[in-house]
Amino acid sequence: MNNTELESLIRTILTEQLTPSATDTPACTASSVALFDDVDSAICAAHAAFLRYQEAPLKTRSAIIAAIRAEIAPCLSELAERAAAETGMGNTADKILKNKAALENTPGIEDLKTTALTGDEGMVLFEYSPFGVVGAVAPSTNPTETIINNSISMLAAGNAIYFSPHPGAKNISLWLIQKMEEIAFKVCGIHNLIVTVKEPTFEATQQMMAHNKIALLAITGGPGIVNMGLKSGKKVIGAGAGNPPCLVDETAEIVKAAQDIVAGASFDYNLPCIAEKSVIAVDCIADQLIQQMREFGAMQITDPQQIAQLREVCIQKGAANKSLVGKSPATILAAAGIPCPAKEPRLIILEVPANDPFVVTEQLMPVLPIVRVDNFEQGLQLALKVEDGLHHTAMMHSQNVSRLNKAAHLMQTSIFVKNGPSYAGIGVGAEGFTTFTIATPTGEGTTSARTFGRLRRCVLTNGFSIR
Ligand code: NAD
Repeated sequence: MNNTELESLIRTILTEQLTPSATDTPACTASSVALFDDVDSAICAAHAAFLRYQEAPLKTRSAIIAAIRAEIAPCLSELAERAAAETGMGNTADKILKNKAALENTPGIEDLKTTALTGDEGMVLFEYSPFGVVGAVAPSTNPTETIINNSISMLAAGNAIYFSPHPGAKNISLWLIQKMEEIAFKVCGIHNLIVTVKEPTFEATQQMMAHNKIALLAITGGPGIVNMGLKSGKKVIGAGAGNPPCLVDETAEIVKAAQDIVAGASFDYNLPCIAEKSVIAVDCIADQLIQQMREFGAMQITDPQQIAQLREVCIQKGAANKSLVGKSPATILAAAGIPCPAKEPRLIILEVPANDPFVVTEQLMPVLPIVRVDNFEQGLQLALKVEDGLHHTAMMHSQNVSRLNKAAHLMQTSIFVKNGPSYAGIGVGAEGFTTFTIATPTGEGTTSARTFGRLRRCVLTNGFSIR
């Protein structure tokens, strides 16, 4: 029997085990699948699906995840193209890489580590069990990546999922949710493990947060939506905004630092929440660093008038100008009335003072401010100020191990990348699994299946030890 036949046999067995009988079909009908007219019906259907999924063996979860990985893989280009076109943000090439990382590098059930204690009095097992229906909010900046990543993690942990996709990424999100629901159904015969509503609105998200069958909220987005979730009275895994600084000291390998910074800060036009949002460079290497960044495709703006023009269009009323978020360098230069070179730069860089709005605002644009500092200590203090206690991400380039350790320790960010581009922090070109939900205010950090599991204890008394 070859692999394909084996896989087909496993699916047949699983489907037979789980195909509903006439008596246990959930309330929702076959016509109500994945995409619903209203929030209540969607969540009730997901809850019915959860009750059946709870009875399925672990191998069913693994089979669903394997099928998602296999069947979404041929759609990566389409997903990326459609997400970039619909949101008007980011670029297809980088979005393909982001979706690929989410699909291939999000851990499955192997992440649910069991621990056991044994002794004269018996044994205790600690295991992760599902919460139920997770209400997951996805951002516009990584719409499909978050849906793929959250689905794999949450299904691995045994949950069903109601997604609140971003209205600005509605069409591609609904398409993906429906597709993944179908994949899960084909494997296990349970409909509605992944659901949403046909019209995802802010009101629908509010309704979802208040619904009594939502057991856990996982919110990936800006401070407004995360704070709204925190007020819901439910358990919340909140993945909020960041403003990642990148500190470069005089011991750094400058060429590599420049290359990593340009690569990270220009990735998907700086949309990832983890991307370098400012560079803090020790004065004695700052010129060399800037020169190298230019060699790697960055365009430096030095004219104070042009810097002012850029500031005026990029930041409005203390926040990023939404119409330029995730736009290309050429679009941003055009908006600021600055000529764009024939070869479009990968990134726009500019030197500014420490308190400049470019430094203290989360822009999500390929416009990277650089601040000079006298020394490492001053740089670290500024990095702490810029990160502003968001507990998100920071980068540092240095060959001084004690400085790296000091910065990593004091920054208290969920991700700290040493001598690499920001995306190394989510397992792209580096060790570690991928996540697009980095739980910052609530402290879970880089989320995976176990984050969406309830840690429980099961006790067997009277001795069960072979030591
Ligand atoms: P956003 O806050 O505008 O939207 C996030 C989601 O919340 C969307 O689905 C939106 O429809 C919904 N939403 C927003 N306001 C709402 C309201 N008042 N009521 C109901 N629903 C509401 O965020 P965005 O622009 O899509 O994403 C960018 C932000 O998300 C950035 O700040 C970025 O740093 C952050 N982010 C964080 C992570 C992380 O893992 N920590 C990952 C991606 C994005």
